[in-house]
Amino acid sequence: MSELYYKSTRSDDTRLTASQAILQGLSRDGGLFVPSFIPKLDVSLETLSHMSYQQIAYEVMKLFFTDFTEEELRGCIERAYDSKFDTKEIAPLVKKGDAWFLELFHGATIAFKDMALSILPHLMITSARKNGITNDIVILTATSGDTGKAALAGFAGVEGTKIVVFYPKDGVSPIQKKQMVTQRGANTRVIGIHGNFDDAQTGVKAIFNDRELEKELDEAGFQFSSANSINIGRLVPQVAYYVYSYVTLMARGVLCEGEPMNVVVPTGNFGNILAAYYAKNMGIPMKKLICASNENKALFDFFRTGTYDRNREFILTSSPSMDILISSNLERLIYLVAGESAETNATFMEQLSTTGVYTLPEEMRSRLADFCGYYTDEAGTAQIIRETYEKENYIMDTHTAVAAHVYKQYREETGDTTPTVIASTASPYKFTRSVMSAIDPRYENEEDFALIDQLHELSGMPIPQAIEDIRSAEVLHKTVCEKDEMEQVIREFLGVK
Ligand SMILES: *Cc1c(COP(=O)(O)O)cnc(C)c1O
Repeated sequence: MSELYYKSTRSDDTRLTASQAILQGLSRDGGLFVPSFIPKLDVSLETLSHMSYQQIAYEVMKLFFTDFTEEELRGCIERAYDSKFDTKEIAPLVKKGDAWFLELFHGATIAFKDMALSILPHLMITSARKNGITNDIVILTATSGDTGKAALAGFAGVEGTKIVVFYPKDGVSPIQKKQMVTQRGANTRVIGIHGNFDDAQTGVKAIFNDRELEKELDEAGFQFSSANSINIGRLVPQVAYYVYSYVTLMARGVLCEGEPMNVVVPTGNFGNILAAYYAKNMGIPMKKLICASNENKALFDFFRTGTYDRNREFILTSSPSMDILISSNLERLIYLVAGESAETNATFMEQLSTTGVYTLPEEMRSRLADFCGYYTDEAGTAQIIRETYEKENYIMDTHTAVAAHVYKQYREETGDTTPTVIASTASPYKFTRSVMSAIDPRYENEEDFALIDQLHELSGMPIPQAIEDIRSAEVLHKTVCEKDEMEQVIREFLGVK
């Protein structure tokens, strides 16, 4: 078998190792890095079913990160999936009603982004060392909430890295803001900007593309990198928990080896569900990958019609991490169903950026049969939270609720009783207000921290350390700047002029 390497989804001339792709993040042609093939698991499902989360993560990642030594990769995994998680299982799988909830929110910031962002810093530092890079890696991130905190928690205190996070000053929830501005670690900087998320994002992109600045920083011993969800170093670690889910269902006698499971994934940027698709292609038996959207349902329309159309009203919902009109990681799937033709994919992406729309030909659409799309509105989201609380005494967050409601629709419509895993992407403690109001409108006027205590009383779920921490934590980051001052703020932090 030929050696695995990384190439771009938009042109055929790049050929990188895993560590180079992780360091670079995005291809210079605007494309995303993809492996030259999706490797097959080389140990049996039966063997995997006796392994710990960390061991399974190794078996998955070693096949993608082929230029890492065993020692390097095991080191990264050990440092990532440790006592930062409040459960030894890392990703518990709990049966409630008809479904298994895969709880991906037991990490430092109580959302599923921790699953990848707790390992990315270690992958990046190892990659830098392997490629003879002595510069400090400076992570630049624009955030609308969850990613910023998860990246901060991942990179804080990691030697050889610094991280700068920009957030829209008035565009994140009070809890999200408090989580970020209380971040400890001398290598972290958190800055509010006067503007919205797009302004922050545009500013960060401009800084990334500034070749003069790049040169100047290189001379001072720094180089930028990105921690956003298109980095292959975020996608691959997510494949592990789908493998883990399947073999856990085997170990519990729910599935015999070879019998399929379904997955339902609350989707925004399409990274999480794409990881499930990679797991399927590695040899995990899956019947349907059910893509769950909120009222921002570009993906629902895409799976139903073959047309992706971002020209639509942007709707603010109670599941903000899914309020996305352009799902960047979908590009990796388009590339696959285009028969890995960079040229065909690039044509669609060009149409997306100029007109906001593209339509797949019938032949490409037929290769999407593993997927189906559903969506839920705000009423459906609230209803399933209430219903599941009343029937199961289990309280889920709003993003997970979108998936749970979608699963209910899917099951009613198809009668399919295949064992089904719902990716549970955030702790209810992260979205307390929406969750508690869904259970009973009388909670609407309560204060944030009072709601946390009431959620604890209702559910009996321990209050996560991440929440306890911000109750009393000191605000450490007070800088606010204008859009055109972002570069200056970075210079000051790095001590470059
Ligand atoms: C980021 C996020 C999602 C969406 O995941 P994608 O990989 O972007 O599709 C869903 N739920 C929560 C809580 C998130 O933070």
